[in-house]
Amino acid sequence: MDQAESVRTPSSWVVVGLDNGGTCNNATVLDATGQFLVSSLVENPSRVTDGPELAVDSLAAAFTAILELTQTPLSLVRAVGLDTPGPASAHGVISSKGATNFNQVSWHGFDIRGALEARLGMPVVYNNDANAAALYAHHRHFGTSALEKSSVSAIVGTGLGGGVVESGKVIRGAAGMAGELGHVQIPLHGVLEDGQPVPVCNCGFEGDVESIASLTGIKKNLLPYWLTRFPDHPLAAEPVEKAAKMLRGYGEKDDPLALAVFGQQARAIGKLFTIAANFTDPDAYFLGGGVVEAAPHFRQWFLNTVRESTQLRDEQARAATFALVPDLDMAGARGAAVAALDAVAAGAR
Ligand SMILES: [Zn+2]
Repeated sequence: MDQAESVRTPSSWVVVGLDNGGTCNNATVLDATGQFLVSSLVENPSRVTDGPELAVDSLAAAFTAILELTQTPLSLVRAVGLDTPGPASAHGVISSKGATNFNQVSWHGFDIRGALEARLGMPVVYNNDANAAALYAHHRHFGTSALEKSSVSAIVGTGLGGGVVESGKVIRGAAGMAGELGHVQIPLHGVLEDGQPVPVCNCGFEGDVESIASLTGIKKNLLPYWLTRFPDHPLAAEPVEKAAKMLRGYGEKDDPLALAVFGQQARAIGKLFTIAANFTDPDAYFLGGGVVEAAPHFRQWFLNTVRESTQLRDEQARAATFALVPDLDMAGARGAAVAALDAVAAGAR
């Protein structure tokens, strides 16, 4: 991609957004008027598997590189937004038990936000990656009315990430674990077939959203069951890991087994959104993840199935919107930047 065409230079003070992933960091710059200075992915290696010290070095390198690319002087930067996969505290301390991307012992209980703040010498605002994506979806969808609106986001990936936004702010919770929507247990009536085993999540819960609506759920629970119903399906000949990843391609071609699996996922998310409707009654329900990158007819079918499976009262149905999370590969960095901009604005108020 020709980045030169999609890069602007700042005309005001700015914040930087850094999205830390398993292999790459993605960086962006947001100016005080709410405009992003880059319109495409700007990545560098994240080196998280090399431990905290080199990973923080890599985040600092991403910070320097995005300032150079946008010709932004360091003196214009007021704050940095950082997001990483969880579990981590509301303030960016990685779980004491580690996490998928942070499994070295040196990561356990590591304060990645504090370490980056010390390294860069400026305020760093932390969110987990799902919360950052939810925040970006919210602000992108509602624009100038974002601070008056509420939303709930479900992001289907390896797991099921979530975020709850109220008055434009992420709900964090006492321990930083609000919005862990994947581990909300849902009624399974109307989701599972008669005789289908109750799915189990990696967290130990039975029948939570992630046990169904995630790549892990497909691999562990849904595909093994549905292959017993379609024993001659070509995916039966593939290793389950590979078959799970190939399933979306079959869904795009209206394959009956694939539609059965994705239909269960969409109904599970609908059950989750029904709980949300009775809990915070949001203005919008956002859906993100791999499905957003699928063929348009398929993702629309998936979103429609989620909507049909969400039981809203008439008043709620008139007030609420269902939408896909846009720009998903950039949503983390952009949401992290939005959080940093909000923090600077709140400090100025
Ligand atoms: Zn779970």
